[in-house]
Amino acid sequence: MLNHRLLTEEQKNHYRRFCEFVKEHVTPFDNTWDKEQGVPRQVMARCGQAGFVGGIIPKEYGGGGWDAVTFGLLNEAFGAASSSLCALFTVQTMVAMTLVKWGTDEQKKQWLGPMAKGEIIASFAMTEPKVGSDIQAVETTITPKGEGDIYLLKGTKKWITLSAIADIFLVFGKDNEGKSMAGIVKSTAPGVTVKPLKDMLGFRGAHLSQIEFENCEIRSGDLVGKPGLVLPYVAPLGLHYGRISTAWSSTGLLRACLETSAAYASERRQFQVPIMEHGAIRQIITDMGVDLEAARLLCLNACMAEDDHSPDAIEKVLTAKYFASRAVARAAADAVQVMGAAGCHEENPAARFYRNAKVMQIIEGTDQVLQKVLGKSFCRKFSKKG
Ligand SMILES: Cc1cc2nc3c(=O)[nH]c(=O)nc-3n(C[C@H](O)[C@H](O)[C@H](O)COP(=O)(O)OP(=O)(O)OC[C@H]3O[C@@H](n4cnc5c(N)ncnc54)[C@H](O)[C@@H]3O)c2cc1C
Repeated sequence: MLNHRLLTEEQKNHYRRFCEFVKEHVTPFDNTWDKEQGVPRQVMARCGQAGFVGGIIPKEYGGGGWDAVTFGLLNEAFGAASSSLCALFTVQTMVAMTLVKWGTDEQKKQWLGPMAKGEIIASFAMTEPKVGSDIQAVETTITPKGEGDIYLLKGTKKWITLSAIADIFLVFGKDNEGKSMAGIVKSTAPGVTVKPLKDMLGFRGAHLSQIEFENCEIRSGDLVGKPGLVLPYVAPLGLHYGRISTAWSSTGLLRACLETSAAYASERRQFQVPIMEHGAIRQIITDMGVDLEAARLLCLNACMAEDDHSPDAIEKVLTAKYFASRAVARAAADAVQVMGAAGCHEENPAARFYRNAKVMQIIEGTDQVLQKVLGKSFCRKFSKKG
């Protein structure tokens, strides 16, 4: 997939294994999962048994101890076949890596092993009906009950991936002094109501739901991070891994758009020649190919920075996510264009790619929010003389 010198033998072997798994267990089924609006839990369990769900979790906590590049390659391989299943790696990793960095010893011991095996599925519950991009404005409250070490959680979270089937939620809120808080809540806890959200544009198999918390009790031992430090430090760490995942899964989906378009353009004949002989179609394929190459390199560069613990890693991950999600939205629209009417039918993968690709520009920071952050950062950096 990439210049062979950019990946280690171990990373290449992992990628081959991901692709073999995807070919057998994912590609033939994604259309069905999309139509039935749910990736079956046993498919997620199989990914867990294969070591894919907790690959990036450190070995000492029961994970695979992968580097970020290998985690990225996993998302590329699965992203090409099923955005909905790939969302499992996104959110599970967001919660797991948050616990690795900010969790207590007890929380790590309790959750990370089962999460690594895929026996426990976790959701990252930030967005609310009135609060999207502006996460500092969360309205959910996590306040002391006044007896013992119990806190009360009250509020509504919306558009939460996998939450319709998750075992635990990492929920973000504020206390009554406005300090940001987060806590782990079991989906079966009293006061939790889960309302599945069907008929999404894309990610239809990703089990989104709205979750209502009505005075749901959280033990102080289940709070994650120090009050007041959760929105500035704890949540961004989770979102950072979400962006790594989304950048690479967008890149995988972009590859799928190119493969599907190239195959069709070689076969489909109009005006007595395969349509790839028409310059306008070649231009579309060229743009997809160049975007794919650029997205792969940006993703790899970002993950290498992450693996090197470089201070630039955050900006490079934002850059890769921004580029790849926009590139795949263009490529998926073009894939439909190359296929004409055939691409407009649900049985054609291009239609599904098109719906999933649009979502990439919204999750883990919308295009506009990333422009705000990256534009400021680039301006500061490049306005310096010398
Ligand atoms: C498939 C899917 C899965 C999701 N999974 C999760 C999940 O697991 N957990 C979770 O917490 N959330 C999840 N979300 C929600 C997602 O994080 C939000 O959709 C995202 O943060 C944007 O928020 P919003 O949709 O409320 O849009 P808004 O923030 O209301 O934005 C609406 C529009 O205004 C623009 N805008 C907002 N602020 C600015 C600004 N300052 N400058 C310029 N333009 C701006 C946005 O770019 C957008 O175009 C999911 C969403 C989808 C679609």
